Amino acid sequence: MVKRVFNFSPGPGVLPLEVLDEARENLRSLGNTGIGILEHSHRGKAFLAVYEEVVALCRELAGIPDDYDILFLQGGASTQFFTVPMNFLTPNATADYLVTGAWAQKAAAEAKRFGRVHVAASSEDRNFSYIPAECDFSPNSVYVHFTSNNTIFGTQFGSEPKSPDSSFLVCDASSDIFSKPIDVRRYGLIYAGAQKNLGPAGVTLVIARKDLTARGSSDIPTMLQYRTHAENESMYNTPPTFCIYVMGLVFKWIKRQGGLTAMAGWNAQKAGKLYEFLDASRMFRATAEPGGRSQMNVTFVTGDEKLDAEFIKTATAAGLDGLKGHRSVGGMRASLYNAFPPEGVDALIQSLRDFEAKHA
Ligand code: PMP
Repeated sequence: MVKRVFNFSPGPGVLPLEVLDEARENLRSLGNTGIGILEHSHRGKAFLAVYEEVVALCRELAGIPDDYDILFLQGGASTQFFTVPMNFLTPNATADYLVTGAWAQKAAAEAKRFGRVHVAASSEDRNFSYIPAECDFSPNSVYVHFTSNNTIFGTQFGSEPKSPDSSFLVCDASSDIFSKPIDVRRYGLIYAGAQKNLGPAGVTLVIARKDLTARGSSDIPTMLQYRTHAENESMYNTPPTFCIYVMGLVFKWIKRQGGLTAMAGWNAQKAGKLYEFLDASRMFRATAEPGGRSQMNVTFVTGDEKLDAEFIKTATAAGLDGLKGHRSVGGMRASLYNAFPPEGVDALIQSLRDFEAKHA
């Protein structure tokens, strides 16, 4: 068998081995049905049982109240960038956006096609290296949109922004969903591409208040109306069955580990260890400012591009993969999603330490 390396990829990211093994087991036959998970009809009894279990586990893990819909959509988080404003924004209405990174910028740009966008906060002045402390909300915004974790710049909100009561909160949680407990009641709508913390690429989880899915525009294509998917339990058309199934395996794995509280503890430990090393290092430094540092994506540099490139080469050869930072930040990025093992963080720190000693 090929040896698995430590996969620091920002997404699709590492999945638990137990999940991969169970998925493999069910490829030829889902349980004793004689039909593989990839081959079952989404309308058949076997898949419907899978679906019901995934929804129930999702509700249980995150404490999602009954008046919220759980939807499994396609098109990635990028499709949510325009689906949200298409459903809720009108040409003369305003939505507030907290622009804390490249994904937030993209979300705001899509919203501008449908209505007014007010930038209530931005961290662009220091290359998105921090989370703004204050927001300047507009008086009558329909909703406030923020990106809870900025995958590229390595920053993360410690808690939800305090948005005005008159609007509802929308969150792109693609890169930190289910990495810690979440108070769903504070949100109108949460969306997340699955490929970091929840499963394979190809499904986007949307958690939305039922009154909102019901009230979205009906003047847009059927597939883009949240109500379509809410009224048809995500089966108006063929849903990404395999992705939903694997997401369920990940949910079961999270539950076995002790749920979202356990995830939070273990993620804080993993990232904390790495930041501690970086803060003490003479060669490497974290790019995100303390107070807004991400526990999912740790971004760091040496300050010398050649040295960065050499470190990445050395690390890759040692079985530490996917550490190259996004081109807009440069340097390195260690993505430490839920399933990333603590031993991988230890191996990275050792590799950084050795590199530093060799090049001192
Ligand atoms: N938002 C965030 C925070 C992301 O990290 C990403 C992908 N890396 C996206 C949105 C885009 O997601 P997708 O590729 O699923 O469209």
